[in-house]
Amino acid sequence: MKTGRGAQGKDAFSEYLKHIFRLENVSSPVSTSALAEAMNVAPSTVTDTLKRLAEKGLINYVPYHGITLTPEGQKASVKAIRRHRIVERFLTDMLGFEWHEAHEEALLFENNISEEVERRLFVALNRPKVCPHGYPIPSKPEDVRVEDTTLYSLEPGEKAEVISVKDDEPELLQFMASLGIKPGVKIKVEAKDPFKGPLQAQVGRSRRTVGWHLANSIYVRKLGG
Ligand SMILES: [Zn+2]
Repeated sequence: MKTGRGAQGKDAFSEYLKHIFRLENVSSPVSTSALAEAMNVAPSTVTDTLKRLAEKGLINYVPYHGITLTPEGQKASVKAIRRHRIVERFLTDMLGFEWHEAHEEALLFENNISEEVERRLFVALNRPKVCPHGYPIPSKPEDVRVEDTTLYSLEPGEKAEVISVKDDEPELLQFMASLGIKPGVKIKVEAKDPFKGPLQAQVGRSRRTVGWHLANSIYVRKLGG
């Protein structure tokens, strides 16, 4: 479940920008309702913040048409995404949090650290390339490449490597971990039931049943052969 916890108060701007950036990658302009749904809040609550983001020159916002990021807004989004992923790595690598805890826990304080703390964390972590869920830690908009091949799109016989997994459903992440699914793991689809049925897959050395929702939350890169 998404809590939308980071969506309130002074952290709101960066939370909005992160979501708008991600949604714009899927379809632009972003509708107010799509944004509200992604943030798990009522559409009426987002309009106020959207107006303020527009005043700051971070987005173009036309009511009933949608939202696009300005170049300034893109830069600010990338900064917010970068910070989130660095803080996630800090939580898992240095503080021993599990990967299903990192996302929510990061939202609680990531906007309250200085740029210098963020910079030093990054160095102390050995300049990681990805967050615990496999997403790149970006320096520019092009780095925030969104994988679009899900495990579910594979056909029986096809092999793939897990690149990243959706990070905002803690229970799902916990379950994934129990199946041995994480970035870097190789998976071979053995069978797939029709009508959104589960697939049978070889995960590392184990055979697993992976349901539709789970398989759609796992992004992969196909492997040849
Ligand atoms: Zn993450």
